[in-house]
Amino acid sequence: MNKGNIGVTSDNIFPVIKKFLYSDHEIFLRELISNAVDATQKLKTLSSVGEVKGDLGDLRVRVTIDKAKKTLTVSDHGIGMTAEEVDKFINQIAFSGAEEFVNKYKDRTEAIIGHFGLGFYSAFMVSKKVEIFSQSYQEDAKAVHWSCEGSPEYTMDDTIKAERGTDVVLHIDDEFSQYLEDATIEGLLKKYCKFLPIEIAFGKKKEWKEGKQVELDEENIINDTTPAWTRKPADLTEEDYEKFYHELYPMQMDEPLFHIHLNVDYPFNLTGILYFPKIKTNLDVHRNKIQLYCNQVYVTDEVENIVPEYLTLLHGVIDSPDIPLNVSRSYLQSDNNVKKISGYITKKVADKLAEMFKNDRESFETKWDDIKLFIQFGMLTDEKFYEKAVGFALLKNLDGKYFTIEEYKDHIRENQVDKDGNMVVLYTNDPDAHYTFIERAKAKGYDVLLQNGELDVHAMSQAEQKSEKLRFVRIDSDTIENLIKKEDAAKDEYSDEQKEGLRKAVEALLPVNEKLNYYVSCEAVSADALPVFITQNEFMRRMKEMSAHQQGMNFYGNMPDSYTLVLNTAHPLIQSLVAQMTSEEVEEIPETREGEEPKEAVKKTVFTLSGEDERLKQLIDIALLASGQLKGEALAKFVNRSVELL
Ligand code: ADP
Repeated sequence: MNKGNIGVTSDNIFPVIKKFLYSDHEIFLRELISNAVDATQKLKTLSSVGEVKGDLGDLRVRVTIDKAKKTLTVSDHGIGMTAEEVDKFINQIAFSGAEEFVNKYKDRTEAIIGHFGLGFYSAFMVSKKVEIFSQSYQEDAKAVHWSCEGSPEYTMDDTIKAERGTDVVLHIDDEFSQYLEDATIEGLLKKYCKFLPIEIAFGKKKEWKEGKQVELDEENIINDTTPAWTRKPADLTEEDYEKFYHELYPMQMDEPLFHIHLNVDYPFNLTGILYFPKIKTNLDVHRNKIQLYCNQVYVTDEVENIVPEYLTLLHGVIDSPDIPLNVSRSYLQSDNNVKKISGYITKKVADKLAEMFKNDRESFETKWDDIKLFIQFGMLTDEKFYEKAVGFALLKNLDGKYFTIEEYKDHIRENQVDKDGNMVVLYTNDPDAHYTFIERAKAKGYDVLLQNGELDVHAMSQAEQKSEKLRFVRIDSDTIENLIKKEDAAKDEYSDEQKEGLRKAVEALLPVNEKLNYYVSCEAVSADALPVFITQNEFMRRMKEMSAHQQGMNFYGNMPDSYTLVLNTAHPLIQSLVAQMTSEEVEEIPETREGEEPKEAVKKTVFTLSGEDERLKQLIDIALLASGQLKGEALAKFVNRSVELL
């Protein structure tokens, strides 16, 4: 028997392994199975070049549990190892690099965990003893038995092993007894090994017979060795892609909208399939994530640093041996390969969308509402994507017609340009609430867009920035005459003093609310418009809406909502109120600033409206009611008052 010390620089690397990888110890299984698969593929390669003769026989990798002995074994029929190889690959592990890494990131365990493949030694995270039994494919090689009890000491001796390949036997620590449970192991195999290229067998297939689960003779194969992304698009049907989608996300009921098959081999290697899901609500967004594989081994579903953020809304797989996995997340972002990959995926996705738009616009339009959030997110966060997407991003009007931004500009160019040359896009986010405003716009022949998406406000601001003299205004943000000001703006014949008096009378009766500000304004809108109504300034409202998504803009978020109560002086009802006002001459001394000579008193006419409080209250309440702001006690009072008036 041969005894020795494992060639590590630290006294004992094992406590480090246990401590730092503690919360992610399950990856040991992925590491061991990857080794087994690698060894098997190496054998196949050697066979294909004639270095290994004859039939390779059964190549399945098997995982077995022995509950009595408390062992978990991973067996392969790969190339195996000679004693010299075990010494070289297992004993002389170049752990100095790993140790350095662990020391550097000591305080940031999560940076190490997951992305730091420890390879074979991760077995010690869950085992008190690990044994290797290996028979090399090489002629005349003796089988070797290696054993180590979680300290730098190991033993090595000859053994007899009937079959070529390697068995790695883990004597599971008592505190990790869950790894002796079939269900735990099957779960881990399904997570990490579902698409490995060599068959992985675990136990026997089971079937339900007469209400009982019975074992069949057949082995239970965990994986699909040729998942869709590894095959040629030409060999795959739509059904294959859909089937694979459900293989990836067994809990997902919905079908994806469409997919993109990725395939590059220069300047980096990447394959994969991305699916566009139907995104219904915010909650759905990150339920199924893109899975990252490295040569068909599952690595993670946290791809935030590898694909642009908006692409994380997609589903599917990316497989690349070129993404460095054993490094920290922040390093990933600066890695050149990763940057190129991200750029490539962006381009592929944009090209696919452009092609769909061009080849079958009708079908693209039917999908638009479902993919809109994703595309807007991309346009807002990625300039390159914006440049491509601006050609196929759509706007929908209240008639359900779709336009690209350029098409829409052509659509409204004739009618919706104001006297200063601004093209004014009218929109609503709630057609029911804005019914009256919409009717008045339509009466003028204007078009109104439906903009009720979560990112619409941001998308509109972006469109305004990109296009000079283009304004988006919500239909209730002012009177339609003010929103699109033409030369012939209507005027009334009332004096400023009269309007001031009317304003004061109304202001005195406005509801008091800390979170709401009301300004009163008199405007000769039109005799056929409502006598009073409420508008909300576009700029302030939009700032508030945008601040809800953005940090550092709380200033706007905390401001009270402000509304304008418009008194339509072209309406007979308002005119009759003005006619009822009485006037008196008063003398007023203008205010002086410090150090200024006192000013002389000036004469002023003051108009007052008295005895009309009930009617004014009724008018204010009608305006509040029409914009959904009359609630609770105020609403009850309004109803009672209305009944009395009748
Ligand atoms: P890595 O797989 O990253 O090289 P490991 O510590 O997991 O690191 O393995 C070290 C080496 O030991 C492998 O590169 C391989 O040469 C050898 N090895 C490990 N497991 C097996 C196996 N099941 N069959 C043959 N060789 C193996």
